[in-house]
Parts: sequence; C-alpha cells; structure tokens
Amino acid sequence: MNAHLESPPKPDAIVARRLRVSGHVQGVGFRPFVYRLAQELGLAGSVRNLNGEVDILAQGPAHTVERFERDLIERAPPLARVRILASSNTTPGPGTEFEILASAHGGRALIHIPADHFTCAACLEELYRPSDRRYRYPFINCTQCGPRYTLIDALPYDRANTTMQLFELCANCREEYEDPSDRRFHAEPVACPDCGPSVWLDAGIDSYAREVAIQRTVALIRDGATVAVKGVGGYHLLCDASNAAAVQRLRDRKRRPHKPLAVMFPQQGTDGLDRVRQEVTVSCEEATALIGTARPIVLLERRTDSTLPEVIAPGLSELGVLLPYSPLHHLILSELGRPVVATSGNLSGEPVLTEVSAARRALGSVADAILHHDRPIARPADDSVIRVMSGRARVLRLGRGLAPLELTLPRTLDHPLIATGGHLKNTVALAWEDRVVLSPHIADMATVRSQEVFKQIVDDLQRLYGVKALGVICDTHPDYATTRWANRCGLPVRKILHHHAHASALAGEHAVKTQMLVFTWDGAGLGDDGALWGGEAFAGMPGAWRRVASLRPFRLPGGERASRSPWRSAAALCWEMGHEAPGSIDPLVRSAWEKNVNCPGTSSVGRLFDGAAALLLGLSDASYEGQGPMMLEAAAWKAGGGTPEHPSLPICDDGNGLSRIDWAPLVNGLLQSATDTSQAAAMVHHTLATTIVEVAKRQRTTTGVSVVGLTGGVFQNALLVELARNGLTREGFEVLLAERVPCGDGGLSYGQVIEAIHCADSRSPLPLA
Ligand SMILES: [Zn+2]
Ligand SMILES: [Zn+2]
Repeated sequence: MNAHLESPPKPDAIVARRLRVSGHVQGVGFRPFVYRLAQELGLAGSVRNLNGEVDILAQGPAHTVERFERDLIERAPPLARVRILASSNTTPGPGTEFEILASAHGGRALIHIPADHFTCAACLEELYRPSDRRYRYPFINCTQCGPRYTLIDALPYDRANTTMQLFELCANCREEYEDPSDRRFHAEPVACPDCGPSVWLDAGIDSYAREVAIQRTVALIRDGATVAVKGVGGYHLLCDASNAAAVQRLRDRKRRPHKPLAVMFPQQGTDGLDRVRQEVTVSCEEATALIGTARPIVLLERRTDSTLPEVIAPGLSELGVLLPYSPLHHLILSELGRPVVATSGNLSGEPVLTEVSAARRALGSVADAILHHDRPIARPADDSVIRVMSGRARVLRLGRGLAPLELTLPRTLDHPLIATGGHLKNTVALAWEDRVVLSPHIADMATVRSQEVFKQIVDDLQRLYGVKALGVICDTHPDYATTRWANRCGLPVRKILHHHAHASALAGEHAVKTQMLVFTWDGAGLGDDGALWGGEAFAGMPGAWRRVASLRPFRLPGGERASRSPWRSAAALCWEMGHEAPGSIDPLVRSAWEKNVNCPGTSSVGRLFDGAAALLLGLSDASYEGQGPMMLEAAAWKAGGGTPEHPSLPICDDGNGLSRIDWAPLVNGLLQSATDTSQAAAMVHHTLATTIVEVAKRQRTTTGVSVVGLTGGVFQNALLVELARNGLTREGFEVLLAERVPCGDGGLSYGQVIEAIHCADSRSPLPLA
C-alpha cells in the first residue's frame, strides 16, 4: 500500500462522511428513503436538499457507513436515478440522531421538473384492499407514483405550488405527509376520499358521484357507449374495443375515419400483460416499455388470431397498446375486464382537452357521458408513443410520463434560448447553461388552441425553471405559426433549416464528435433553395452540414397540401415520367402542373411513399398524416422474409457535389406490378434501403465517413429501418437512430438548439442584427 495514503479506519471506528448526491432526487421520496435507511442502520447525521442536489451527512461505524453508501444506490426508490457526486470524510460530531433538515438555498437551484408517473404496486394493493381507507379511491398516490408535471404550478415542488393546493389535508393524510417514516412523507399530491379530489359522471340530465359514477361508466362502456374520462394529462374517449359498432360510432362522431386508435388493456397476470398477449406479440423490450413508470402507448404487432376488430387500426398490422396509468383507469379497466379504445379527447389535431367546461362543449357530441374529476390539470400532456425498432424502445411521441425531457448540452450557453420547433406534432425546447428541456408533444400548430397551448408551454417552462430566454430559434419556413410567433415575440431570432435541425437532433442525442452522414427523410420541410426537401442526406456535423444527396425532385401539385392527397404524389411521379396518371384527375390540376402553377419541386421520400401507396393500394386520399407510408409498411410486412427482386436506383452527381437519386425505376416497377401488392410494397422498402447503403458507400469513398444516421419521420418505419441498418452494418458502418428524442418533427426544437449553438461563431448563438 502507498505509504502516503491514510490507512483505512478500523471497521468499528466511528467515522463521519459527507455525500453529495444528484439524479432524479426531487419529488420521488428520496430524502425520506435516506432517512429510513439511516434509521435502519442506526446512523446519526442529516439529509437536506441543496440547490437541487441532496447533501447527506452519515455518522457511525465505518463498515455501516460504507454499507449505507452502497445501499443509497442499490436500494434507492425506483424513480430516483441516483449518482454520488462527492464523498469525503469529515470529523465526527456529538449528535446521535438522524434528521431531515430544511432545504438550504444558495446560488441558483438546479431544478428538475418530474414527469407524471404510473400507479405503483404498493398503491394498487391498497386500492383493491377493502380494509384500506383508500379502498377504490381513484386518486391514490405516493412518493413513488402519481402525477407531477401536469399539476405543478410553480417550483419548488411543494403541495402549495401544485393544483392540489385546493384540497386541504385531513388529519390522517397530514399525519402521513409529515411522518418521515411513512411512504407518503411529502407525497405532494397525497389525498384520500375525505379530503381529496373526487369524480362525477355527467350522463345526459343525470349525474352520478364517486363509486356510482365509476360503476355507471363501466356499465355504459359495456353497453357500447363512448365515455370521455378525465385522466392525468387530459380527457380520453373510451369505448369497448371488442365492439366494432361502438368503435365505428366513435370514429364517425369524431370524424376520424381511419387513424389508428390506441387500446388500453386491463392489467392482468403476474407481469400485467396476460390479456395484452392474447392480441399482440410482446418482446422483452416491448414489455419493459409497457409496464414502465411512463406507461406509454407501445406499437405492437397484432397476432393473426387477434379477436379485436379491424376498425381499430384499418389496414395496419400493429396496435397501439397501453396499460392503465392512473388509479381511475385501473378501477375502470379491472371492473370491465376487457380492453377499451382510449383515444385523446380533443378536436382533430389539437392538444388534448383538460378543462371540465371545454370538455363539455367539445366532447358533448362525441361522448355519451363524461366522467370528470375536480383535480385541475395545469397543462396538457398527451400519451407518449413508443416503437421498438432495432432492439431499442424509441420515442415517436414525447408525452405524459416522459416529458419534460432533459438533456445535457455539449457546452454552456451565455444566454437562455427558446426553440419553437416546426409545425406538425410540435414540441418546444428551453435551453440555458448546459441544459435543454423538451416539452411534451403539443399538437399540430394550425389551430388557435394549439397556439394558445404553445404559448402557455413557452411561458411555463421559463417560469418553472426560473429562466428568461434572450433569443429564439425557429424554422426557416415563413408560414409556420411558430415562425410567425418567433418573428413577433420581440427577441432576436435565428432561423434554422428544417433538415439541419433533424440532423443535429440525432447528432446531439448521441453526442457525436466526428463527421457523420445523416439521412433526413420525411414529409416536407423548406430547403434553402425554396423547394420542399424530404429526401436529403447531409455530411458533416452540427453547424456545418453539407447537403450531399437528395431524391430527384418532382413538381408536386398543391405543394404542402399534397400530404393529405397521395393521388397528387402519384400523378406527379407519373407525369414527370411522361406516363398518364391512373384514375380520373381534374384537368385543371394537370394544366396547373404543366404550367408549373403552385407546383413546388419536392425531393420528399414521404411523398414518394404516398405515391407508392396510391399506386399500389389505391389510397387516393389520406385521412391522417402518414397514412400512406404506414399502410405501405403494413402491406410490406405481409410479404414475409426474403429479399424480393428490386431495381437499383441510379445515383448521379449533379456537378456540384450533390448526388441525385433517381426514383424512376422504382415507379416503373410499381406501375408494372399488378399482382401481389405486399411483394410490391416490400420491393419499395428494399429498393430504398439498398439506396441508402449505396449513397453511404459513395460518401465513404469520397469523405471517409463511417457513421451513418437515419432520422426524420420516414424512419418511424420499422421495416425500412431494419433493412437499412442491416445493410449498413454489413458494410461496416456504425448506424445511429433516434431514441429518446423523436425522429419526427417532435425532435426539431431540440435539433434547432443543437444546430444554433454550433453555428454561432462566439458562445452566443444570438444573431448580431
Ligand atoms: Zn404509489
Ligand atoms: Zn385525507
């Protein structure tokens, strides 16, 4: 042993150790856990919050203090992700007790806003135990579970700063709340039937309260009715998923003819997934995502013997599945004993509704009854959506349970910034110091309510974190509502190209430090040449992307409007090749196309998928964003394994270092294949995956790049991702995919931050003018 080091203390010598701990240590019962652990081991000392970290003093026999330090990590509450930042010996004091000290403040607090959590096993056990005072109480929660983000009005996270301040604690609840040895010690939303929120059911002229309201809700759903139910982040519409007529009625009333609906299953069996497994296949990763504390919607492959009606997800091979995430949902689902459709209670494209009066107005004609509760929702949070691709759970929509999502920036900012994202499926991001926080999915930005919620989130994030943005980052598209807001807000504005933001989001999430090649394939974003990009590849790094490959452009009648009209893409592709377009097309459209009126050029792979869906599946109009690509993917999976015969697409250099991918052989293939649509759909996927590998190999030859990223909404397609990734890996490339940040437009706000801080010359990304 090195003679300069102190020899370790004898195992039973009294030592004192000071620990500084970080992680998710707020709002998850971490201090009481520390207290109980110290009590259990008979240690003296103290624990207190210190600027968002936890400061612990532990005193006792050396071997016990060591065990304490170990248990601090190994036995920490499941929601805390604990990291010991510092551990040092100090002089033992006279104290013999272990205390929880008041929070200390000094400097700026390192505040984290916790996300909304599921209902934990201990609370569920009480929920169903007849002797418990919270038996069947729909708002049971503890430090390990329950809502957070959707009820926080201000920070620090104390009850007085949440929407629970309306409910004064009864003596029993107060005792639990104040007892450090109780598992509800400082569980801020703690409540019971005597003092907490309650439910009631509006059913026509009748109204029912509490348990009767829940029983009535279940009876109505069983009878085929649609009931709107207020949850954690907003209202859901529920109906019996096994009743095709009920589901169809819900679709008709909501004017949502085809968009896939999520299905909530009762939690049954040892891992809760017995009923789920009767309808869909569930891998290990998928099960972990389903039963995790976020309780997201997980996209799962339907079994061939699934008994659920086709109308839930017409033309698709997957179902969006989730388990109950609140005690209220547990009560309804366990009583009903069968799955329900659970779709957001909103008007098309808007954020989910949160207010009792607004829900009555907007959902009154959709739902037969509405189950309300009186715990106010501070701000909406829609369900998160996850798809397991390439063996990892990947977030397609950031929402309840996962947001706000905090990531660390590659360097420290001088000025806080707000990034406004894009237009569809939008999120916003607040960045300051070396931190960036992403909001949950807001919605499509075209409606007044979306813009109101957008504004509220922009204000709330700054207020809650105590940060004031001094600059704003937005898309270059002049017509996005978010761009217009940025131009009006009075702060210096930096504009970022849509696809640069996509590329930088991926590079930022993986903290890539080398040159890489990123395919950013999506529906459409404005390029620097005024065209609608969406089939691009960029080489370089954040702040220095070079466009190196792109799809051969075609003129798209109607421009961005074409996203809901796959026939427009099909016609454009055919006309571009000198063919007639199938079907009867308004001659005015054709003549506008010939005269190049309102026909912007596009290189969008999303539109190429749309065209293929129209030609192969006869899908002329899409009733939701991405319907064509999703149906094409579902058709392709039906083809089974094997590699179908597929054309290779010519890749030509345009003389300026841009490789153009010619889609013509692919469209020819589609026009010639009249027989097996699933084989033809598979052919589309294989062709594009092969093309990705080809482009990457050419880039490696010229630039030596060996890391390839795949991002943009097109890469929500699991089959394309799998084929491209396998091909690239076989050729020796390292492949990066989005994971926690959505690859679609929900990731743009984060990508804008990453891009802006890299393209700035100084540490300030603010424009000079
Ligand atoms: Zn709990
Ligand atoms: Zn109470």
